[in-house]
Amino acid sequence: MSGATAVLYPSQTPSTYHRIVSSTLQVPTDTQASVPVGLLACQRDPLLRTLQSHVVSCTVSKPPAEPAGKKAKKAVIAPTLPKGPILEVVLHDTIIFPEGGGQPTDTGVITTADNQEWNVLQAKRYGGHAVHFVQVKDVDIETALQTFHSGAPVTVLLDKASWNRRYDHMSMHTSQHLLSALLETQLDLPTLSWSLTAHPAPCYVEIPRGMTGEEIASIQECANRFVFEGRKVHVEVTELDKTVEQPAPTLESGRAVGKALPDDYTGGVKRIVVIDGVDRNPCCGTHLPSLHNLQLFLLPHTDTLARSATTTARLYFLAGPRLITHLTSTHTLLTNTASILSCGAPLVPERVNQVVDERRRGDKRVDALEGELARLIAADIVQKLGAAHGGAVPVLHLHRSDDSANPLGFLSAISMALSDILPNANLANGFLIVLSSSPLTQTVSSVTVVLVCGTDDKLVKTSGDALKSKLGVKGGGKGTRWSGKYTGVWKAERENIAVDEILKSVSEGRI
Ligand SMILES: [Zn+2]
Repeated sequence: MSGATAVLYPSQTPSTYHRIVSSTLQVPTDTQASVPVGLLACQRDPLLRTLQSHVVSCTVSKPPAEPAGKKAKKAVIAPTLPKGPILEVVLHDTIIFPEGGGQPTDTGVITTADNQEWNVLQAKRYGGHAVHFVQVKDVDIETALQTFHSGAPVTVLLDKASWNRRYDHMSMHTSQHLLSALLETQLDLPTLSWSLTAHPAPCYVEIPRGMTGEEIASIQECANRFVFEGRKVHVEVTELDKTVEQPAPTLESGRAVGKALPDDYTGGVKRIVVIDGVDRNPCCGTHLPSLHNLQLFLLPHTDTLARSATTTARLYFLAGPRLITHLTSTHTLLTNTASILSCGAPLVPERVNQVVDERRRGDKRVDALEGELARLIAADIVQKLGAAHGGAVPVLHLHRSDDSANPLGFLSAISMALSDILPNANLANGFLIVLSSSPLTQTVSSVTVVLVCGTDDKLVKTSGDALKSKLGVKGGGKGTRWSGKYTGVWKAERENIAVDEILKSVSEGRI
């Protein structure tokens, strides 16, 4: 261990967790040199939450210019950085994990010698070293650079939120190693990729084909047997000999298949994560020292994805705190639904089915009754139009209040019923009507639908144009039909009177 980094609180990570298996490899102790990624304190001791360290270098972060055109695909979820100055700080050692190996970045807090706390928004691996993105608030950039001068002592902390984030990432990452190992050894299914999705969504592994329910159940059972046994996890570290490292196999599509070091890694360390008796896998992530507490839940289905020539599938999984969150939220959903339906949770599917069925029958009945009502209204309209005197075209406005989801549909049903009974009606001069429908309770954003229909294209168009210009109804039409929408409160003593005046003027040929 580095002599210059003092542990403030004892960690619970067993001393056998981190094993340097090369006699020539050591964790650098010179506080002016930065410990390479692969040997960082967060990788040696994943349960450590505070660490004293020193600044090696600090520069002002310059955000890279947005690449033109297609955005590069992000491998893992990373926080969006706020606007404002940010420092890129390299420390001698750190417990803030820089994103890599499918595991997202940690966040954390750095306390400087003057007792100032600085938020670390993310950490990234540049070549072989971890770079902390430190937010500058309340002080000018020059003072901030001064505070982070080379050699300055600092304390690095995973505060509660950062620790919860990390613990969740570790739980999901270690579970993924276990899951991928079992899929490979028991079903010959290689993991093509995996995604540590943002909390609380389930993570997934991508595999070459879908799995049956029995296969999923058997893998889950086997995984949980190892969890029950509390299989130990440890890490073996050696120098990286690039000459013997094989590149990752690639698929026909050209996609690399897991398990190789990133091309730009220059840390010089090779790290194997071992689950006792189950798996050995090169990985830079932080892993829990044991499988205990990592009950694995596999969502009992796979999503099939078709990509060009190949078809793959996603198997979703949950473990650790994310599994508890999932159980809590699904339980809450279920009990809330049960309470709405006034039944016990096991009866929810049956009751929902019943409600859906009743709704379907209700909708059918409403359709039938609307048809019947539309015919009655149409008959009434014809009678009123027939009673109109004089040589002018008989006109009529009918306004309704209706909370139907589709009020225009009902107005159309009335106009259809009207055209059905017209041949038997005594309307030698034709007719012109306006139908309108407002919600029962109106506000300034309420919409009243308006339908104009008649026997003369020209009169219908003139009425529509007048509704547009005089009432602000937005709409249009063709032939003997015009429809539109009025937004606002439709008042009988204002809008109804305006419509009546429009109809009168049109029928008398004044507009
Ligand atoms: Zn890994």
